[in-house]
Amino acid sequence: MNYTDSLKDIRPEPDAIIVGAGFGGLYALHRLKQIGLSVEGFEAGAGVGGTWYWNRYPGARCDIESMQYSYSFSDKLQQEWKWQEKYAPQAEILRYIEHVAERFDLLKLIQFNTRIVSASFDDNLERWIVTTDRGESKSARYLILATGPLSTANTPAIRGLDRFSGRIFHTGAWPHEPVDFIGRSVGVIGTGSSGIQIIPELAQVAKDLIVFQRTPNFSIPSRNGPLTPARERMFKERYKVFREEIKRLPSGIFFETTGKSTEEVSPEERQSGFEEAWAKGGVGFVRTFTDIILNPEANTSASDFIRAKIAEIVENPTVASALQPKTYPLGAKRICVDTGYYETFNKSNVSLIDVSKTPITHITSKAVSTVDADYPLDDIVFATGFDALTGAILAIDIKGSAGRSLKDKWKEGPSTYLGLMAAGFPNMFMVAGPGSPSILGNVVVSIEQHVDWISACLEYMHNHDVDVIDAKPDAEAQWDAHVNEVAQSSLFQQADSWYLGSNIPGKPRKFLAYAGGYGVYRDKCAEIASSGYEGFIFRKSPVLAASN
Ligand code: NAP
Repeated sequence: MNYTDSLKDIRPEPDAIIVGAGFGGLYALHRLKQIGLSVEGFEAGAGVGGTWYWNRYPGARCDIESMQYSYSFSDKLQQEWKWQEKYAPQAEILRYIEHVAERFDLLKLIQFNTRIVSASFDDNLERWIVTTDRGESKSARYLILATGPLSTANTPAIRGLDRFSGRIFHTGAWPHEPVDFIGRSVGVIGTGSSGIQIIPELAQVAKDLIVFQRTPNFSIPSRNGPLTPARERMFKERYKVFREEIKRLPSGIFFETTGKSTEEVSPEERQSGFEEAWAKGGVGFVRTFTDIILNPEANTSASDFIRAKIAEIVENPTVASALQPKTYPLGAKRICVDTGYYETFNKSNVSLIDVSKTPITHITSKAVSTVDADYPLDDIVFATGFDALTGAILAIDIKGSAGRSLKDKWKEGPSTYLGLMAAGFPNMFMVAGPGSPSILGNVVVSIEQHVDWISACLEYMHNHDVDVIDAKPDAEAQWDAHVNEVAQSSLFQQADSWYLGSNIPGKPRKFLAYAGGYGVYRDKCAEIASSGYEGFIFRKSPVLAASN
């Protein structure tokens, strides 16, 4: 495909602007370049990596096996890259992403340390005009938002926080230089995946560690360790087939399971199945039996098993009880994976404060205060999560056709067609955005599928001599209704979480991703593409045609 080669030299404006240089942005740069488009990337950080660039807190690692949580688009890459650990730590994943950027010659396409602050579709030029926090502007025919589903850190507005005289950290925006916690009194607010990873690390060095927990999470031990040659071989010998298989799975993750439901086994077999899965470790615990997420009784037996494990590990019964999730089923909130999390609460320097019972009221210059006590601290670590899926998109002032603001369009919550486009925002695509499966499983699988779909769509447009694509409002409304309907029948409605936006005060409560499964979603997107992109409108643009 020879898209705009002849004009590229005389027109500095790229065909496509890609926002973000994490897994999504890098693959988008690579694929779009491959189909002959001129591309330019913008990244707020000083380097590539996205979430793995920012989340460099002690203990940060992925809870999906690295052999699966990695790109599949290049067989040479997946054969040559050697993961060191079963679940790679942040630094190893970042090295991998940096390697990919260098290997595919992407670095020169990205402007770093540059945040896109606005993006408007100019109806006369039929181009997107973006502006940056450096006061520059750039235009492009296509705008690709690869801004990441979990990239806008959320720090709760606790009264007095600005008066705290100690150090303040957020797991999602961790400093680049090493931070010393030796001999200090440290408070961690939040016990989601990030909190559960950082708490055992801080407990090893802090003088005192105070954990402020509002809602306990279910956490499964990772049993992490070096990636064994046998496991590496198991994947690499049939990588191509394996990657095709995982694309079809509901979460894009391969789990070794019993393949049986709890009803098919005796109570003893059920117990030994759970024991085996606990000993093996990892988020696959929830797939030990096929009905754990479907059948409330099966779910209760799995939840009871974890609660019993917590009681077995944690010596103080009051602390153990506070750590046991009791108000929602297993899987309604993202299941966490840890290294020695529950054991950490047996250390004499670690205290758990249940702020669901004694809420945090304010912060003073020296302490976090709850309704009944002050906790003097040198450092506060916020492990309070993200404004998920929509946060990073809406942080950009996006105006579509006729100046319509995306923030207005999404004031009741995001609505998209397939999570790929929003009606009225022509030639703007989202990677792993709201309304797509996104982060509900293996987000790298999700990202590759999205970018492949977008690049195929742009090739289709070129081959059919059309310049502008938009989603039809009725197709978007139908997809949105389907996303909501699927979410209603899922476990996710049974707990407050970032999946529903309920972690951000004022954010509309709406399920943010598509819970129908990666495989089903992939088929739907493929079917729509092969039907000639049903639900999308294409048109030829005299202005763009003239510039071709
Ligand atoms: P999170 O799951 O949203 O957890 C945030 C925690 O902060 C929750 O315990 C929450 O309590 C608490 N919190 C928020 N505001 C609070 C307040 N005002 N007072 C007291 N507590 C407050 O965020 P996260 O742990 O950063 O994880 C987000 C997602 O990132 C994960 O679900 C996962 O998808 C991804 N992640 C993955 C990994 C991994 O691969 N291992 C690691 C880290 C993150 P409530 O529950 O009561 O709201």
